Amino acid sequence: YFITFEGGEGAGKTSVLRSIEKKLQEQGYDVVSTREPGGIHIAEEIRGIILNPNHTEMDARTEALLYAAARRQHLVEKVLPALQAGKVILCDRFIDSSLAYQGYARGLGMDEVFAINQFAIVDAMPDLTLFFDIEPKKGLDRITANKDRERNRLDLENLRFHEDVYSAYHQLVDRFPNRIQVIAADQTIEKVEQESLTKILDFLAD
Ligand code: C5P
Ligand code: MG
Repeated sequence: YFITFEGGEGAGKTSVLRSIEKKLQEQGYDVVSTREPGGIHIAEEIRGIILNPNHTEMDARTEALLYAAARRQHLVEKVLPALQAGKVILCDRFIDSSLAYQGYARGLGMDEVFAINQFAIVDAMPDLTLFFDIEPKKGLDRITANKDRERNRLDLENLRFHEDVYSAYHQLVDRFPNRIQVIAADQTIEKVEQESLTKILDFLAD
């Protein structure tokens, strides 16, 4: 099964993914965890290009195409073979990030960005997506509190942008109600982990 973790900055996706990976492994699941953009060599290189803070001249469509290219390579090299082998794949961000960030917040249009991503993924949509729901202001405050965190494009983006991203994720929840499950991410990390684990185990048991 292909499970993706989505949400804005500071929502807890990455740390929850790590703990879920361990808990699923303890229960005997064969788990592969990965992230986007990245996960394999070529896609990590593309990530470096996209997230390079010196690349202020990066055009929004170029950026969207680079995300889609990284996604394609990651899918072919890592996700599809793991799916073929019957593993559970946990992926930090996937197509919904592009729809929310490039499609809505950067203004390219969700349908247009969906179209280039369909070219990239063909029919490899996630089986389950957890959306980590936290107000952008609270998520951003968590990140600023954590000084060790890798610096990213956050510096260039303002709160308004993150509010657009947040609104886009809610639109996606309405559009894909069967695939996307909402996690209340504005709780202690333990509670967020527990809620996420329950949702995933319920899904895997079905
Ligand atoms: O998931 P992570 O926090 O590592 O994402 C790195 C950065 O990439 C974030 O700042 C996020 O805003 C940005 N991003 C983006 N569009 C995507 C995926 C990630 O702008 N489709
Ligand atoms: Mg993260």
